[in-house]
Amino acid sequence: MPSWSNWSGSVIAETARLAAPADEEEVAALVREAAAAGATVRVAGSGHSFVPVVPAEGAILTLDRLAGLLHADPASGRATLLAGTKLHEATHFLWEQGLALPNQGDVDTQSLAGAIATGTHGTGPGYGSISTRLVGARLVTASGDLLDVDSPDLLPALRVSLGLLGIMTRVTLACVPRYALRERVWQHPIDECLEQLEHNIASHDHYEFFWFPRSDIAESKSLDPVDAEPDTEDPPPLEGPGERVGWAHRIYPSVRELRFNEMEYAVPAEVGPACFRAVRQRMKERHPKVGWPVEYRTLAADDAWLSPAFGRATVTISVHQDAARPYREFFTDLEPIFRSYGGRPHWGKFHTCTRADLAAAYPRFEELCALRREFDPAGRFLSPYLAALFA
Ligand SMILES: Cc1cc2nc3c(=O)[nH]c(=O)nc-3n(C[C@H](O)[C@H](O)[C@H](O)COP(=O)(O)OP(=O)(O)OC[C@H]3O[C@@H](n4cnc5c(N)ncnc54)[C@H](O)[C@@H]3O)c2cc1C
Repeated sequence: MPSWSNWSGSVIAETARLAAPADEEEVAALVREAAAAGATVRVAGSGHSFVPVVPAEGAILTLDRLAGLLHADPASGRATLLAGTKLHEATHFLWEQGLALPNQGDVDTQSLAGAIATGTHGTGPGYGSISTRLVGARLVTASGDLLDVDSPDLLPALRVSLGLLGIMTRVTLACVPRYALRERVWQHPIDECLEQLEHNIASHDHYEFFWFPRSDIAESKSLDPVDAEPDTEDPPPLEGPGERVGWAHRIYPSVRELRFNEMEYAVPAEVGPACFRAVRQRMKERHPKVGWPVEYRTLAADDAWLSPAFGRATVTISVHQDAARPYREFFTDLEPIFRSYGGRPHWGKFHTCTRADLAAAYPRFEELCALRREFDPAGRFLSPYLAALFA
C-alpha cells in the first residue's frame, strides 16, 4: 500500500490509493469512484498539519496540479485561484495583479485550501485568518458533483471545515491593494516584553513575540505598512534583531528549516497575558530542557463556525518541540492550562480534545456536524480520526 506522511513526520499513514488529479473533473471522477466502491477519500495540501486531518484509508488526493490564478479583478480586489495553489505562488500571482492578502502567517508553503480549511492565521488584532477572505468556492461534493458556494449562509460554515463539506477546487478571495511592510525585530527580557505588550499590540499593525524559555529573552517582531514602493529585489531575511522593508508577501514568510511539532490554543484576548504567564511558569517548573520558543500572536474575532477566533478577539499561544524529540508528554502537560483559559485548539496542530470538548469550546460545533451529515451522509470524507470528532 502506498504511504503518506506530513511535514513534521508525526503522521505516517497507508492508503489504498494516492492520486494527483489534473483538473476539477478528475477530482469529481475520483470521488464518484470512491462512492461506488464505498471507500473514503481525503485531500492533502502541503501536509503542514501536525495531526491526522489528511489521511484516509480509501484514497488521498493531492491537488498540487490544480494550481494557478484563474481570474483577478483589481478594481473589486476579488481573485479566483485553483485551490491547490501554494500560498507563495498565490501571493506572487496576486502581486502581479496589484493585489495582496491583508495578512499572512509564519510560512507560505501551505496550499491555499489547506490554509483556509484549518484557519491558518498571522498576527494583528485587526486581522482575521486567511479563511476570512474566502468569498466563494467551488466544491466537489460527496456525490462527486461540482457545487459553487458563495452564499453568506454557507460561507461561515465552509471557511474552516477541514474538507468535511467537500473538496475545494477553486477559491475566490477578497484581497487588498498590494503594499509594502517594514519589519522590525528586537530582543528584550521577557518581563519588559510583557510590560510593553498591550502598547506594542496596539501600536503596530502586526506584532508578535517569541519567548525563549532557556534564556528568558523575548524576540519581538512588528510589521507595519510603509508608503514607498520597495525595489523589486527581495531584502535578505533578518537573522536576528534589525529592520528591513519589502513587499508584504516577501516579508511575512519565514524559512523554517528545522522540523518541529506544535500545539496552539486560541484564548480570549483579555486572558492572553495570564495564560502565557501560566504556561511560562509550568515550563520553567516541569520542562526546563525545552529550548523551542513559545509564540504569542493576536487575531480579530470572526464568524466562521469552526474558527478558533469565532466571536471573540483572540490571542494565540503556540508551543513547539523538535520533530526528533518526544512531544506528547510536554504538550499534554500544558494543554489543561490552555483549556482552563477557555482555549480552542488550532485544527492543524496537536490537541487531545474529544468531540464533547470541541462542542463545548466551539458554539456552532453541533451545527457544523449536522451540516456535514447533510453534505456527506455516507461519510465519504471521514477518516477514523475525523469520524471520532465530527460524525
Ligand atoms: C512550518 C509550519 C509553519 C506554520 N505556520 C502557521 C502559522 O503561521 N499560522 C497558522 O495558523 N498555522 C501555521 N501552520 C499550520 C498550517 O498552516 C496548517 O496546518 C495548514 O492546514 C497547512 O496547510 P496544508 O496545505 O499543508 O494543508 P494540509 O495539512 O495538507 O491539510 C489541512 C486540512 O485541509 C484539508 N484540505 C487540503 N486541501 C483541501 C481542499 N482542496 N479542499 C478541502 N479541504 C482541503 C485537508 O484534508 C486537511 O483536513 C504551520 C505549519 C508548519 C508546518
